This record gives sequence, structure tokens and C-alpha cells, in this order.
Amino acid sequence: MQTRTELSTLGEFGLINRIDSQFKMVNKETIKGIGDDAAVVNTDGKELVVSTDLLMEGIHFDLTYCPLKHLGFKAVAVNVSDIAAMNAIPKQITVSLGLSNRFSVEAIDELYEGIKLACDEYQVDLIGGDTSSSRAGLVISITVLGVAEKENIVYRNTAKVGDLVCVSGDLGAAYMGLQVLEREKQVYLSNPDMQPELNDKDYAVQRQLKPVARMDVIHSLRDAGILPTSMIDVSDGLAAELLHICKKSGVGAVIFEDKMPIDDQTYLIGTELSLSPMTAALNGGEDYELLFTVSQADYEKIKVVSDISMIGYITNEVKNAHIMMKSGSLIPLTSPGYEHF
Ligand code: ADP
Ligand code: MG
Repeated sequence: MQTRTELSTLGEFGLINRIDSQFKMVNKETIKGIGDDAAVVNTDGKELVVSTDLLMEGIHFDLTYCPLKHLGFKAVAVNVSDIAAMNAIPKQITVSLGLSNRFSVEAIDELYEGIKLACDEYQVDLIGGDTSSSRAGLVISITVLGVAEKENIVYRNTAKVGDLVCVSGDLGAAYMGLQVLEREKQVYLSNPDMQPELNDKDYAVQRQLKPVARMDVIHSLRDAGILPTSMIDVSDGLAAELLHICKKSGVGAVIFEDKMPIDDQTYLIGTELSLSPMTAALNGGEDYELLFTVSQADYEKIKVVSDISMIGYITNEVKNAHIMMKSGSLIPLTSPGYEHF
């Protein structure tokens, strides 16, 4: 039996001190972290790039199959991904928590272990937050601060006709991973002694539980001397994100079925669960890859950047995007989007 220490034995300040003691600042820009009325950050004349996410238990995550450590990592990674999508460098985060007394000190330690792993991975400092009790289970809100030179920031509304459409990594695996976990949960609920069989699905499950923010892509584009003309991170499926770029930029796009990067495991799970890998790639969620456009003049440069697929180009067909199927038919992309309410 694991020990369980009630949060009440620490109190709010005890908890904050416990969190504070586990983190060390790594960025010179962090002037003041946890411990005063507000944190102080130096931006050295650069633009400050800010993004926030709110995660509610039962809506955005399910603790039945998402370990707290993974949740902590993921909560930070998805915020860092938003900063990456602006072509900025993340520097600091704040973490605010709503906690019910269901959570022990050990559980919070586990959550912050994951947060710390992500802070190390992305070299960001935890500089503050807020802590409250909650009657709605666990609530996590993370704000991330990043910086960029003004001329390096990449927006969604600046794609140009003729630009190449590029995406990093592969798509659809996180969605398949979620389907696998949901299925295992049902099996587990009906027979808790059953051991899950996830060996051949490890990649997809890991894509769902421990997504990667593609800061590595931001650095390789920079090293290659490429400034994307527009960029967005893929949180709601490629179709929705490409349509965002098209609508904001007042352009259209064509992508090609045979250029879509889809992992073998996504195909295998698709066959097993009777789900379309292409639908998972287009309309699934949580891949956290980067979708961006580059000028045709950068073709030779982008060609040699690893883990990037050129999947299509920007057209003058305003606010519309299509996928050219192998069969030769042209199908409009649609985004059911996520129903949050
Ligand atoms: P205030 O009363 O001014 O809101 P708090 O007592 O809530 O201050 O917080 C004290 C310090 O601890 C602040 O620096 C705050 O940013 C930090 N803090 C509070 N909760 C958290 C948390 N969950 N994670 C990290 N830092 C936190
Ligand atoms: Mg407070």
C-alpha cells in the first residue's frame, strides 16, 4: 500500500514551498520566480509571446488511464507547442491548480514530476501559479511565456498563394492511441484483472499520453535559414488547422493523400478497430505537430530538413481547402471542430 499524505497536513503554503523547492531556474531572463506577489521577467527588447490553456478533469483528461505524471508533462508540452507555433522560444510557465481532497500530497508530487520533466525538456522555468480547492475534480491551467525577435514571429494569417504546405512528424497516431485507451478502459471496467495488451500499440498510446512539442523543428528551420510564411500547431486535426490558415490568410490550399505522413501503427490500429487512418490524420486531434507554409523559393532548403513532409500548396481559391485523393478525386476538407460545450 502506497502512503497517502493528506494535503491538509501541508496547507497551501506548505504545498507551494514543496513545489518551489523542486524547481531550479535555468533562464537568465527569469528575474523573480515563485515567492512574491508577482514574477518578474526580462525580455531584453524582444516580443513577449503568451499562451494559456485550461484543462478540466472529465473534459480534457481521464485519470483512469492518464497517469498524473504524464498529465503534468502533457499540460506543459501542449502550451510549449503553442509558443513553437509562433516561432518563439518558451522561457517561463505558471501553473494554477484546482484540487479536491481526493488528491494526496503524493499525487501532487507525481503531477509536478511530470511538469518538471517537461520544464527540463523545454528549458522553461516555473515562475508561479495559484492553488485553490475544487469541487469539480482536478483543474489545471498553464500559462507559458516565450520570446521572439519581432521579425521572426510567424502568424496564421500570412500564407501566400504558391507557398508550399508542410507538416512535421506524422498525423493521426494520437487519435488512434486514444481509441486504444478508451477500449482498454471499457475492458478494464468490465474485468479489472485483465492486463492490457498495448505492446504493438506503444507508439500511438505514447503519442496520446506524452505528446512532444516540436521545438526541435523550430530550431532546425532556423538552422536551415527558413522563416515559414505562416504556422499553426496541429491540436484539432490537420483539416481544421489548414482551414484556419486559409481563412485567416484569405487563401486556399490543396494537399495530396499520398503525401500525408501516417505511421504504420496508425494503419494497423485503423484496421483492427475499423477506423480510417486518413480520417484520424485529418480530423483526429492532439498530434501537436507543426503545420506551416514556406515560400517556393525555400524549396531546396526545406527539402533537406528532416522529419518534414511537403503535402501540398497554397492556392487562390479563397478560404477553401481540398485533398487530392490517389483516385484522382478532389474532396473538400471539413472541420467538424471540437464541440466544447
Ligand atoms: P497570492 O496570495 O499573491 O495569490 P499565493 O499565496 O497564491 O500568492 O502564491 C504565493 C507564491 O506561490 C506566488 O509566487 C505564486 O505565483 C506561487 N504559487 C502559488 N500556487 C502555485 C502553484 N500551484 N505552482 C507554482 N507556484 C505557485
Ligand atoms: Mg494566489
